[in-house]
Amino acid sequence: MNKADLVYISRLYKLFKPFYSGMGHVLMFHRVGKNDDQVFTGDLQVSPEFLEITLEYFISRKIDVVSLDECHRRISSKTRAKRFVTFTFDDGYADNLTHALPVFEKYNAPFAVFLTTGFPDHKIVLWWYLLENLVMNVDKVEFVDGGRSFLYGTATEDEKKDAFWKIRRYIMQSKQEELLPRLKNIFSTDQKGLLGLTREMALSWKQVRELSNHPLVTIGSHTVNHMALSQLPEEKVYTEIEDAIEIIQEKTGKPVAHLAYPYGIASTVGPREIKIASQCHVKTAFTTESSNLLKRHTKNLFALPRIEMTEGWDDQYFDLYVNGFTPFVHKLIR
Ligand SMILES: [Zn+2]
Repeated sequence: MNKADLVYISRLYKLFKPFYSGMGHVLMFHRVGKNDDQVFTGDLQVSPEFLEITLEYFISRKIDVVSLDECHRRISSKTRAKRFVTFTFDDGYADNLTHALPVFEKYNAPFAVFLTTGFPDHKIVLWWYLLENLVMNVDKVEFVDGGRSFLYGTATEDEKKDAFWKIRRYIMQSKQEELLPRLKNIFSTDQKGLLGLTREMALSWKQVRELSNHPLVTIGSHTVNHMALSQLPEEKVYTEIEDAIEIIQEKTGKPVAHLAYPYGIASTVGPREIKIASQCHVKTAFTTESSNLLKRHTKNLFALPRIEMTEGWDDQYFDLYVNGFTPFVHKLIR
C-alpha cells in the first residue's frame, strides 16, 4: 500500500483510534545528518529538520516526550497514565551527539541511544556503507571468496542497485566466523581498512560519556556485536546482552536499564531471546515490531514494539500511524 492510498482512506483512521492508538509510542531512529548522497542506506538517516518536525508533531498535540525510565513507569502504572512518546536511536552513531542532541536541547526533550559496544570499541565493520561507496564509485565489482569468483557490473544505476542488494544478501548469509574474511575479500582490504569508516562514524567512548552525562540522554544496550541473537547458542545470547550492559556501566558509571534487540524482527528475536532478556536485570527490552504501545504489550515488558521513522512523513502520515491505522494495516499484510 502506498502513501497515496493511505491518505485516500485516511478519513477512516479515527475509527481505529480507540483500539490501536495505545498508551504511547516508542520511535526508532538510527542516524541524523544532512548527507543526502546515500542511495541505498538513506533510510537509516533522517535530517535534523525532520527530527524537529517529529518533535513538534507530538509536542503540539500535548503528547509528553519522555525518557525510557518514564516510559517504563507509565507502562507499568496501574492507573491510566498520560499519553507519551519516547525517542530512541540505535547502534551508536556519532551524529547522535553532533546532530541529534542540539535538536533535543532546543526542545528540552529527552531521548535514548541504544549502544552496540562494538561501535565505540571499533570492532563493527559498517559494511553496508562500505558496500554503497564501492558500488557507487566503480564500474564493476570483482572478488574471489570461498573459492568462487564473483563479478558484478556496476556501470549503470540499475546495475549498481542490483549489485548492492545481491552482495548485501551474500554478506548477510555469512556465518559469524566467515564474515571478516569475506569482507576482506569483497572490499580487498585488511581489517584496519574495513574499520576506517567505523572510526569516522561511530561514537567514541568519550562521546558516549558526554551523552551519558547529559541530563536529557539515557544510554541503553544494543548488545556487544549486533548479531541476530536467534542464530546464536543460548550461552552466547547471555554474553551478548550481559557483557554490553557491564561494559557500558563500567565506561559511563551509570546503570543500564533498557535493551533493544539487534534487528528486532521476529526472525531474530523469539521467545528464547525474550526470556533471556527478562533475566538480565533490565526494565524493558524493545523489538522492531511496528506498533503503538497497546495494553497487551504491558504483559511483557521484554518485547515492546517501536515505530521505525522515515524521513518525509507529514502530519497526515503521523496521524495514520499514531492513531493506529498504519500498524493495523501492517498486521494485515504481514
Ligand atoms: Zn541496530
